[in-house]
Amino acid sequence: MDRHEATQQQWHTLEQEKAVEQSATDAAAGLTTQEAEKRLQQHGLNKLPEKKAESKLIRFLKHFNDVLIYVLLVAAIITAVLGHYTDTLVIIIVAIVNASIGYFQEAKAEDALKSIQALLSPQAQIIRDNKRIEVDATHITIGDIVLLNAGDKVPADLRLLSADHLKIEESALTGEAEAAEKTTEALAADTGLGDRRNMAFTSTTVSAGSGKGVVVAIGKDTEIGKINQMMREVEQLKTPLLQQTEQFGKTVSVFILLTAGATYLFGHFLRDYDQETLLMSIIGLAVAAIPEGLPAILSIILAIGVRRMARQKAIVRNLPSVETLGAVSVICSDKTGTLTKNEMTVQQVAVKDVEYNISGIGYAPDGDISKQDQKVNVADEPLLQQLITCFYVCNDATLDKDEKEGWVAKGDPTENALVTLAHKAGENIVRNKPERKATLPFSSDYKYMATSADTSNGPVIYIKGAPDRLLDMATREAGTNGEQDFDRSYWEQQITQLANQGLRVIGAAYKKTDQLTDRLEHEDIEKDIVFLGLAGIIDPPRDEAIASIQSCHEAGITVKMITGDHADTAKAIGKQMGIGDGEKIMVGKTLQNMDDAALQKAAQEYDVFARTSPEHKLRLVNALQASNIICAMTGDGVNDAPALKQANVGIAMGIKGTEVTKEASEMVLADDNFSTIVEAVKEGRRIYDNLKKTILFILPTNGAESFLIIASILFGTVMPLLPVQILWVNMVTSLTVSLALAFEPMEPDAMKRPPRPVREPLLNGYFAWRILFVSVLIGGGTLWLCTRLHAANVDEATVRTITVQTIVIAQLFHLFNCRSIGRSAFSQQFFSNRAIYVVAAVLFVLQACVTYIPFMNQVFDTVPLSLDQWKYPVYLGLATFIIVEVEKAIAVRVRSKNSKVKI
Ligand code: ATP
Repeated sequence: MDRHEATQQQWHTLEQEKAVEQSATDAAAGLTTQEAEKRLQQHGLNKLPEKKAESKLIRFLKHFNDVLIYVLLVAAIITAVLGHYTDTLVIIIVAIVNASIGYFQEAKAEDALKSIQALLSPQAQIIRDNKRIEVDATHITIGDIVLLNAGDKVPADLRLLSADHLKIEESALTGEAEAAEKTTEALAADTGLGDRRNMAFTSTTVSAGSGKGVVVAIGKDTEIGKINQMMREVEQLKTPLLQQTEQFGKTVSVFILLTAGATYLFGHFLRDYDQETLLMSIIGLAVAAIPEGLPAILSIILAIGVRRMARQKAIVRNLPSVETLGAVSVICSDKTGTLTKNEMTVQQVAVKDVEYNISGIGYAPDGDISKQDQKVNVADEPLLQQLITCFYVCNDATLDKDEKEGWVAKGDPTENALVTLAHKAGENIVRNKPERKATLPFSSDYKYMATSADTSNGPVIYIKGAPDRLLDMATREAGTNGEQDFDRSYWEQQITQLANQGLRVIGAAYKKTDQLTDRLEHEDIEKDIVFLGLAGIIDPPRDEAIASIQSCHEAGITVKMITGDHADTAKAIGKQMGIGDGEKIMVGKTLQNMDDAALQKAAQEYDVFARTSPEHKLRLVNALQASNIICAMTGDGVNDAPALKQANVGIAMGIKGTEVTKEASEMVLADDNFSTIVEAVKEGRRIYDNLKKTILFILPTNGAESFLIIASILFGTVMPLLPVQILWVNMVTSLTVSLALAFEPMEPDAMKRPPRPVREPLLNGYFAWRILFVSVLIGGGTLWLCTRLHAANVDEATVRTITVQTIVIAQLFHLFNCRSIGRSAFSQQFFSNRAIYVVAAVLFVLQACVTYIPFMNQVFDTVPLSLDQWKYPVYLGLATFIIVEVEKAIAVRVRSKNSKVKI
């Protein structure tokens, strides 16, 4: 039987020890690094086989499946039939060049996305060399011991060795949406996949609890690998704007073909063109009018934007959210770690009737504990000692002194702060740490953690958590003379006093038991506990977040804080950071009891929500969306995933966040920092503006050329441009100037105006007008110039060469108009976009080639121009620039009179 079959049949039937033995590993210490490397060599990386990518040739050929290419091919055939072989050749070359541009741009956009996906490779916690480490999930191998926690994605197929309230959602494999409770006992051989409760399968997700398992299958040998189901959802690559433009492009193409047909009939019956000239002009018209390069250029702009965002630590998981980001009007943010630094230090502790201050900052245990400014010896303060022991035992964090790095804290920052407190309290507490038996891990839903431990006073359950939760559970309290009646109002006052200073408050309590419990249940803990005391932890706000909140306000974006923390702490921090009015606050319980209509109102009215649980986040998102608000929501825990999925832009924390939250999100913050969200919103606005500017820039090129040809047929004049010349103009502009606006920096007022309405149509009335206006301006100007030159008896080849230059140079000038949609061209710093000058230089070289190189003269029917003749294109370009600037100034006035929306 090969390993493949063994995996399928055996593991769930084996006892744990047997499974460990067969995997030749050690359940406690894991593999050694050396052994793991050997196995990695032997079994390969833990990856599902990638879907076979389309070959490059096929992808290249696909670019020929395009209306423009069809038009070009028909044109090539017609020119060949007419005997214009040079034209045929040029048209074919242009078709190939065009498809190549599309191909390379698409490949570039895909590469950008791929490199970003790579930033998000899932991590897993394993034990190797008797140490707990985090590794890239692809580097896990057979025999590795994997630790599972709520929110993790199972990285390989595991035979479970321990399961503490472990629940795994296996719908990816079994279709069953309800999470399966896991155990460790061996099962009968005929147990179906969905019932193998002692196994955890790759790509399923841990929805609650914790556990440990030995890797028995990786990569394609896993259950998922066998059914060969790709886990990565197909990511949407087309943004709404891209879809709109693509659709628009198609409609325009059909319209142009119809117009070309009508123009042909008109020219044929009502003007006396010879058949050949007319056909060539119609081909020219069709080629001129179709905005073939547009979709590719727009995706390049998005891809460049996504890359820039990744550099700024905002990793966008799907392209459409880049656009949505620019339209966000409410950002709902967590507090801890996102708005605050997550650098926690315990500053105050309180037991009954005594308060202590703790000096020092950070995780290094340098500092003293003092009472009324007098340093105390913890051994002389039994209540304090008991309190600190509770915080220390009921804790998963570690603090170690490293030779090189000094003190290294690992784990949750709140818990790190409490471990540091224990070290500050003295060696005695650290050395005499009682042994832990069972644990109920902390969860944002329950807001406490509990541990059973064997102390010198007998078995105890230690509980630490949100103090108001513990107050509800307590019936007694610890006093100097032992346990006594519970004085709830005393503790409430203490909590308020700490929370009002913006401190995060943690409570401690215990419950004596007859026996050392090896399995804890919430029901056993949630009554009759003895309250011990409190710790007040400082978590300073991030300075940059305060500035970002200010900038959100200027940009018409409301920031809401949705935290699990205490109401008073939330209020104090909110006030320090500029969120809410420092007074109004809603707590989770109130929110829970509201009906949808009331919540819809409250969701807008309140900016600070405290003591919330993840399900409240989901209700809040729904309530905001019911008022058509585009909202972004942050989250880290597994239970935040539904809210992130529902939000218009779900934002997961890169450091603190679980794999499940990251998968449910549109964007991942590599640094967990609120300011990064605001930077991403800025970038989103910049990108959307640049997309619009590019459309506004490109379409008039097509418009002007079409205008020129249609007008000359209508007036019966000589064709101002030959098809090959039109192809040349389109090719050089889409290779150069069309790309420049992708690099345009943000408009100075981009974060000073309100968010754009999401349903704002791309081509609104003003856009349509502007495109038409500039088309007629450049087209009409060029036509007028042609007529003047003809009248002055300039030969036809020279006129056409001047026409080619005029359209291109007018476009170059027009590029400066488009740097801002509504504001003057001088509102942008002139050299802030260097791309413009690079593409302009390339454009000049290309234009000089087509004008002065004899071979190109022959192919494109051009002639060398004298220096004097260059003045026409330059004058016309300058005139276009000035007239469009005047039009913009007038349009802004007219529009601001008629609407409140700024352009
Ligand atoms: P945010 O939602 O803004 O990140 P948060 O981190 O304070 O806020 P939770 O993690 O849900 O929200 O914590 C809620 C409360 O639970 C805290 O105010 C604290 O009192 C308590 N708490 C936090 N971490 C722990 C922990 N590891 N063990 C016990 N109690 C904790």
